[in-house]
Amino acid sequence: MKYTVNEKGYYGKFGGAYIPEMLYPNVEELRTRYLDIIYEEGFQKEFHKLLRDYVGRPTPLYLAKRLSEKYGATIYLKREDLCHTGAHKVNNTIGQILLAKRLGKQKIIAETGAGQHGVATATVCALMGMECIVYMGKIDMERQRPNVERMRILGTTVVPALSGSMTLKDATNEAMRHWINNPTDTHYIIGSVVGPHPYPDMVARFQSVISEEMKKQLQEEIGNPYPDYVFACVGGGSNAAGAFYHFLDDEHVTLVASEAAGKGVDSGESAATTALGKPGVLHGSKTILMQTEDGQVVEPYSISAGLDYPGIGPIHAHLFDVGRVKFVSATDDEAMNAGLELSRMEGIIPAIESAHALAALSQFTFEKDDVVVVNLSGRGDKDLETYIRWGKY
Ligand SMILES: *Cc1c(COP(=O)(O)O)cnc(C)c1O
Repeated sequence: MKYTVNEKGYYGKFGGAYIPEMLYPNVEELRTRYLDIIYEEGFQKEFHKLLRDYVGRPTPLYLAKRLSEKYGATIYLKREDLCHTGAHKVNNTIGQILLAKRLGKQKIIAETGAGQHGVATATVCALMGMECIVYMGKIDMERQRPNVERMRILGTTVVPALSGSMTLKDATNEAMRHWINNPTDTHYIIGSVVGPHPYPDMVARFQSVISEEMKKQLQEEIGNPYPDYVFACVGGGSNAAGAFYHFLDDEHVTLVASEAAGKGVDSGESAATTALGKPGVLHGSKTILMQTEDGQVVEPYSISAGLDYPGIGPIHAHLFDVGRVKFVSATDDEAMNAGLELSRMEGIIPAIESAHALAALSQFTFEKDDVVVVNLSGRGDKDLETYIRWGKY
């Protein structure tokens, strides 16, 4: 396991736990206990039973025949879009709520931008009868009404963040503040492979069920657990980390991460972190992030809310740095066209995030017998308004 995190929480130059002194006890409790808890037999049993009966795992590995013909390779879709709540995010929230219970916590907090992680968190809190508060920027609450109402229906309290630009980073600050003030009874569920150690590693482990299943399914389908390529989109990077995880040490598997180029990498309206970013500290870890000359975080832009993030998880910063993962990007236009293409050719309307992974296919020339897996991170139901506004269908 060449690419796993070290004792101190670093992936090469990236990672660590850059946190205020006041958060140290909370993070330290997690750091010292997470591995023992999640690899305990009873935990694994409960986790996998819920993934099976509640989330609907294993998700299918679907041979997309018409897409395969078009791109001249054998293309499989890993159907995370069929998970309960519509995306991969629930794999992680199930894992973290079971962990929170074993740590003796009674309350859950989370922050959310577009609301997808908030909904996945509200869902598992309802399931476990835990009290849940989700912080969300006031502007985001106005933009994402349906997800706010979903969380409320599920019994969660949604608290507007009223400071700064009233978006994700302000919600994150509010959640941190809450956690500092309520360290003993509250667990903070982070939604991607970001944040201070051990969060990136913990989230990657929960999401690694994706590549664990892929290997088994490929073995059954083609008699070989290794594909030639795995494609995934990257916001913070949790679905990509999960889809790559069990292939990281198999260098003959080409791993491709697709970032959101927005209106173009050099347009000033983009979220193509590795193309534009530099090392810096964001949300408690050292990573690559988009920033100005004097280190201010640059406001990212993408048509897809889930990829609209100025950094990437430290594991991806490292995989980019050492060249293990190939980073590419797709513009809004390219992603929307790829989303429509999948809808027309396979009868699957993808989340616009996932459409960025599909859009990367056309940037490669495949050999006829190449086996390609695209991680379809989520379904497009939540994006209907965006498809309608786009209108080109
Ligand atoms: C949130 C989300 C993403 C981006 O998050 P990652 O942590 O990068 O996976 C991608 N796809 C969908 C469908 C999402 O909801």
